[in-house]
Amino acid sequence: MVRRILIANRGEIAVRVIRTCRELGIETVAVYSTADRDSLHVQLADQAVCIGPPPSAKSYLVKENLIMAALRTGCQAIHPGVGFLSESADFARAVQKEGLIFIGPDPEVIDLLGDKVQARNTAKKYGLPITPGTEGAVQDPVEAAKIARELGYPVIIKAAAGGGGKGMRVIRREEELAENLAIASREAAANFADGTVFIEKYLENPRHVELQIVADGKGTVLVLGERDCSVQKRHQKLIEESPSPAVDEDMRRRMSEGAVRMFRELKYRGAGTIEFLVSGKDFYFMEVNARIQVEHPVSEFVTGIDIIRQQILACTEGRMEIDPETVRLSGWSIECRINALSPGKVHRLDVPGGPGVRFDSFLYSGCTVPPHYDSMVAKLIVYAPTRPLALARMDRALRELRIEGIKTNAAQQRWIINHPKFQSGDFGTGYYAEIEKEVEHVH
Ligand code: ADP
Repeated sequence: MVRRILIANRGEIAVRVIRTCRELGIETVAVYSTADRDSLHVQLADQAVCIGPPPSAKSYLVKENLIMAALRTGCQAIHPGVGFLSESADFARAVQKEGLIFIGPDPEVIDLLGDKVQARNTAKKYGLPITPGTEGAVQDPVEAAKIARELGYPVIIKAAAGGGGKGMRVIRREEELAENLAIASREAAANFADGTVFIEKYLENPRHVELQIVADGKGTVLVLGERDCSVQKRHQKLIEESPSPAVDEDMRRRMSEGAVRMFRELKYRGAGTIEFLVSGKDFYFMEVNARIQVEHPVSEFVTGIDIIRQQILACTEGRMEIDPETVRLSGWSIECRINALSPGKVHRLDVPGGPGVRFDSFLYSGCTVPPHYDSMVAKLIVYAPTRPLALARMDRALRELRIEGIKTNAAQQRWIINHPKFQSGDFGTGYYAEIEKEVEHVH
């Protein structure tokens, strides 16, 4: 058992990891930029190390400083959280080179899955359907036009190294293709240090469905149900739920079988997510996120499993505590991301409570939300026996939540939760765009 872990992250996810470490009896070392000196993760950890000034490029993204902090404080492992360096194979490699454990899969696996073109080919090899599209990179506009014509418009140009909803362009007519291909490649090179792009068929209003995986790296691969993340604002997830209203037993089984084959073959270790687009009864592999995800709590609610605990045990001891025979999905869980619409000081915070309510956040009364980082400040997650009961519970919990001093999207989330189309469960990734004008008037 490792004794001490450094958490190379901030905010809500750092707090979340500290909580599980404490339950495991593992000490934690937090890192912080000077903007986060008074942040909750710094207060909750056993020790904290300042790693630089506010811009993440000078603090949370400086690999050498994070590793140095881990070595100096006597840590045996590093948990990367989400975002920042969580999917950096170079970081994982550097961590391992210093004799530390990286809490994630091997760097070679991160490399393979981080490249969407390679990931598509791998998924195909293990029998998973992929969105129709190019097998490799596309550069030549003439070739691109031929491929797009065969696929039929609309198509989407994607960066092989893209992530976080960035680096994608939807093309509806051939005239737009050549120019956008060049722009997309330039943008990809600037943002991801890799200009490789590829082309896929653009599905109209599909659902985003993903499977939560945990694996011990030795062949045990477990699927902890699916999540539906179809409520997205410009490809960024806003509300997630488990199970998905669009997935039945048969689709869940077909998706899981291919996913398990792929993760087992990759000797995958820790927590991971495999994402699909669902259109009617068909599903298509999209990508793998080789890390814990923001929306993992809905899967924790419906399975009763602490996913970060299993992730840490898998990566530090090569074991998990779950008997595969006993994994059961029950009830319904929904998560609303609470985003700050402006940074600033929180004068008052009333946290919702009561049965089936979980609030994961780094906020406290009197804290300051710095302007330098991701706008997500909290996640409100509810659990109930059925979807209608979970919706009523989320409405109730959002009414209890009170954050004064900064503007958030909490009222907008409540509006969506009560919108007839969301309540019906019948919506796709185009849903938010349909309601955007109305939502933005809600305060
Ligand atoms: P990222 O890695 O940036 O998160 P993804 O490949 O996961 O990008 O795609 C993010 C979102 O973009 C999806 O959830 C979906 O809404 C949309 N999307 C991606 N590919 C397609 C496609 N071929 N057709 C329709 N929508 C797509």
